[in-house]
Amino acid sequence: MNYRRLGRYGLQLSDFSLGLWHNFGRDDDFVIARKLLLAAYEKGITVFDLANNYGPPPGSAEFTFGKVFSSDLKEHRNKMVITSKAGHLMWDGPYGDWGSRKYLVSSCDESLERMGLKYVDIFYSHRYDPNTALEETMGALDYIVRSGRALYVGLSKYPADKLKEAVAILKDLGTPCVVDQRRYSLLDRTPEKEHFALHKEMEIGCVSFSPLAQGQLTDKYIDGVPRDSRAAKESGFLQIDEVETNRQKVAKLREIAQQRGQTLAQMALAWQLAESVDPRYNKERVSSVIIGASRVEQLLDNLQALENTKFSNAELELIDKITL
Ligand code: NDP
Repeated sequence: MNYRRLGRYGLQLSDFSLGLWHNFGRDDDFVIARKLLLAAYEKGITVFDLANNYGPPPGSAEFTFGKVFSSDLKEHRNKMVITSKAGHLMWDGPYGDWGSRKYLVSSCDESLERMGLKYVDIFYSHRYDPNTALEETMGALDYIVRSGRALYVGLSKYPADKLKEAVAILKDLGTPCVVDQRRYSLLDRTPEKEHFALHKEMEIGCVSFSPLAQGQLTDKYIDGVPRDSRAAKESGFLQIDEVETNRQKVAKLREIAQQRGQTLAQMALAWQLAESVDPRYNKERVSSVIIGASRVEQLLDNLQALENTKFSNAELELIDKITL
């Protein structure tokens, strides 16, 4: 495992983070969830990405994490980066959604309680709130750090212009935004349009989520939609239509992966951390890739991506042809 800096800031993140959006809820198998957390830590993953609403039900992933932390990982606290977020619907009424100070601060308190932590390492505003002044949301993040609830703050999914504005406000407040968290994969290269250039300009890090497009960039859906897959679940986060639409593209990408001696998942992850002589590929643009896994075998398979992150220009060009 390598560790990369968030822009010009001191915090270093492992190449891969483990995300707890799915597979760690109340109805998921606790034994598997615990094994995943321990295997990830043992393999050098130091970053555990959570949010108030991860579950289902909302809050239960933080609860599961807290249980494993307290029984197995407590003494390693200073070697771990634990994150949480608030910004999506968490509880009924006007104080449990979006970007008010009222919501962010009380939600952060609840997250700390569920996880049994004194502080989180990074606290994120989970999404931009068009109806709340950025000064208020950024002021809440600043307060969360100054009151000892978090060490650093980050933003997630902000449009480019709002990201720029928010980062400037936080800088003025003296609590810099160190990281932008956004969706990025071979099937969604949107951050290449504006955000990567902004990160560079503002000297902040970038953490990518859903790098396997929720499992589409694996061998899982070659012959249809397995019953135990995310696309088959009622949550609707991954639609079967989307899987069908991407099927041909995915098949072409799999051929390149096979020629590289990698699984498609390994190639899709390695590509995010790509080392190349091609200047278009600045390997520092993604500081950490957040992977999800529903079993330990998936996690171990995916970590092997680190064994080959070198891409030839011909490979990169072919990938561009298929995905752009
Ligand atoms: P991925 O794109 O990595 O998808 C993970 C899923 O892919 C797994 O749950 C599993 O699905 C499948 N999978 C993974 N590896 C393999 C493999 N080797 N073989 C077959 N199938 C595999 O990431 P996620 O979409 O889960 O997102 C990762 C994390 O990013 C989240 O947990 C969260 O922390 C963060 N995130 C942040 C968001 C934000 O708004 N800031 C939004 C979304 C995510 P299956 O269950 O079908 O087995």
